[in-house]
Amino acid sequence: MTDAEKLEVRDITRIERIGAHSHIRGLGLDDVLEARAVSQGMVGQKEARRAAGIVVQMVREGKIAGRCILLAGEPSTGKTAIAVAMAQALGNETPFTSMSASEIFSLEMSKTEALSQAMRKSIGVRIKEETEIIEGEVVEIQIDRPATGTGQKIGKVTLKTTEMETNYDLGNKIIECFMKEKIQAGDVITIDKASGKVSKLGRSFTRARDYDATGAQTRFVQCPEGELQKRKEVVHTVTLHEIDVINSRTHGFLALFSGDTGEIKQEIRDQINGKVMEWREEGKAEINPGVLFIDEVHMLDMECFSFLNRAMESDMAPVVIMATNRGHTRIRGTNYRSPHGMPLDLLDRMIIIRTVPYSEKEVREILKIRCEEEDCVMNNDALTVLTRIACDTSLRYAIQLITTANLVSRRRKSTEVTVEDVKKCYALFIDEVRSSKILMELQDEYMFNEIESDKAKDK
Ligand code: ATP
Repeated sequence: MTDAEKLEVRDITRIERIGAHSHIRGLGLDDVLEARAVSQGMVGQKEARRAAGIVVQMVREGKIAGRCILLAGEPSTGKTAIAVAMAQALGNETPFTSMSASEIFSLEMSKTEALSQAMRKSIGVRIKEETEIIEGEVVEIQIDRPATGTGQKIGKVTLKTTEMETNYDLGNKIIECFMKEKIQAGDVITIDKASGKVSKLGRSFTRARDYDATGAQTRFVQCPEGELQKRKEVVHTVTLHEIDVINSRTHGFLALFSGDTGEIKQEIRDQINGKVMEWREEGKAEINPGVLFIDEVHMLDMECFSFLNRAMESDMAPVVIMATNRGHTRIRGTNYRSPHGMPLDLLDRMIIIRTVPYSEKEVREILKIRCEEEDCVMNNDALTVLTRIACDTSLRYAIQLITTANLVSRRRKSTEVTVEDVKKCYALFIDEVRSSKILMELQDEYMFNEIESDKAKDK
């Protein structure tokens, strides 16, 4: 099957914006899934990247559903970056839904419904449709003038092929095409039987005047080379959630554009699951389990964890990747403490990928890549100072300083960022450590100071 015959809808409009992870272009692995030191915008974190590469491979093979992976590590160790890289490595074909756990706390729908929708957005269904393409030279076109007021148009086109004469009833689209006189006797056209789309391939070898106005003179005509009738496979990729919304009587397909899908009845979902399974058995559809990424997963509560535990057992479940930077903490909705604030039985079914803090050299490399991403020329000394700042404060804070230092240097019409620019921004914008320190020192000056009232209580 050629590419032209395999039509797929893809999103080609992309807005070029610089975001927190826009420098990430993939996992940066070689053919044997070993992580290269610096590649595709990714630096270090080799073990985690390699593990993520294996998960990507597993998802690509599409055979495994409902696996759960946890990316666990200290803040700013690249957990979200790795998830973004996985999405890129999987490509446009595989559905990838990314959400923050706190998104499920909405008044519009229950938490479990929000999770159900996220899971179904991450399952792709490739629906294959065979359509017949008829190709031939137009011999005669008959269009019956519509009776006034009916709005109905009917017609017939006779195509001459080398072997046979094909009479083809016209749909509205084709009639429009003929009425606008885009097509006339003597043209070689193709008609897509499923969509009614007409395409003109050119004029035939026979001159048009071989026909009279009604095409009554139907001489044998040689068509250009090529198949006269072709079968073309059209593939539509949709998600289970999209099928749910389209079939939900209360919302209808327009809800897909507004995003206002509300809750979908379980009854509808069951029917759709059944239908999709039927299509799969008949070879009309393939299920493409994608990935659901839930960041800050410790924000989920006990109810959500137990829902996920159950939902992942379905063979229509996506691969779920979760990320957290929490250590031992309370499971939301309970008084129990557990690692990462997650129930032990869920943790037991997960494969855990650990991310580790970066070395100074790696931090420098990440900052260098971010400078390139933001079109910021930073001299070596400034980069050394910025790296030091990142190690003493946080990588995120240092990344923020790139943008601000770049602006400062541009204001003084300089082409590169110097140590002075970085220092100036370091003084202007405080990091989390300095901010907490200032608050501790000046706590008496602030209102409703809880630390103070705690002290008072202790007394
Ligand atoms: P948190 O736990 O606070 O959510 P995180 O582990 O998800 O943090 P990220 O947000 O992925 O951390 O990383 C912080 C910044 O550093 C991002 O801009 C990210 O793109 C970048 N970054 C992190 N790790 C890498 C890496 N290995 N290579 C390139 N860039 C990275």
